[in-house]
Amino acid sequence: MKRPTRRLARWGPPAILGIPLDHNSSFLRGSAAAPALIRETLRSDAWNKWAESGVDIGREGWVEDAGDLRDMEAADAFARIEEAVAKIVEDKKRPVSLGGDHSVTYPILRAVGKRIPGITLLHFDAHPDLYANYEENPHSHASPFARIREEKLAQRLIQIGIRTLNADQREQAEKYDVEIFEMRDLPSLAKLKLAGPIYVSFDMDVLEPGLAPGVSHWEPGGLTTREALHYIPAAPIVGADVVECNPERDRSGLTATVAAKILKELLGKMLAA
Ligand code: MN
Ligand code: MN
Repeated sequence: MKRPTRRLARWGPPAILGIPLDHNSSFLRGSAAAPALIRETLRSDAWNKWAESGVDIGREGWVEDAGDLRDMEAADAFARIEEAVAKIVEDKKRPVSLGGDHSVTYPILRAVGKRIPGITLLHFDAHPDLYANYEENPHSHASPFARIREEKLAQRLIQIGIRTLNADQREQAEKYDVEIFEMRDLPSLAKLKLAGPIYVSFDMDVLEPGLAPGVSHWEPGGLTTREALHYIPAAPIVGADVVECNPERDRSGLTATVAAKILKELLGKMLAA
């Protein structure tokens, strides 16, 4: 067998974890069905398993599968998400989680941020998700990045693709020292000054809804798939999540395919030498 890439040797294999939790979604449910669908789509015979970086993500041992968490309606769901992700990190693997709604990123970062210091959190989203306590739910999918900043689970928080800022969210962004790059003024990749270790949190609604309609909150004026891939860096990625794919709104199955493509290219960049 060919030697693993340098990056695989240094950082360990990505391990895919499904998190079928959608009860913290404020508007529509349905994203709990996404992990199984995205996995199945990634494995589909409709395409090959080579990422654009030149890596075969289907190669034995290069990407592991940590399975799906269960009973995500239970009160201890966040504690179990944190525990499962912590185990992946402690086993010297890199967690790549499939949501679920975006609330899951908070317990994931509790596990990752406490074990890997100095993380730059690169967050793709139409929304900043910084509400202090959205609709009386501090764990809402509209609030994970407020929690992450309060607990200092990442050194930098960079948001890209944002196009829904209101006065409250602008205030929150200032309070939590968030580097926001709005959709109306996209930066060059170099301007982000990304340096490892990077964690990527990818909310599918960052994309133009006509290109990925299977999301709970349609927000026109978004990134194309190609633009999004452009912003996934070559710097070391220590973990990632792809969230907010909602199969209930994905009649053609297109959005699951786009999510699987994002996942494939993320894995490809994680493994590239
Ligand atoms: Mn989000
Ligand atoms: Mn969003």
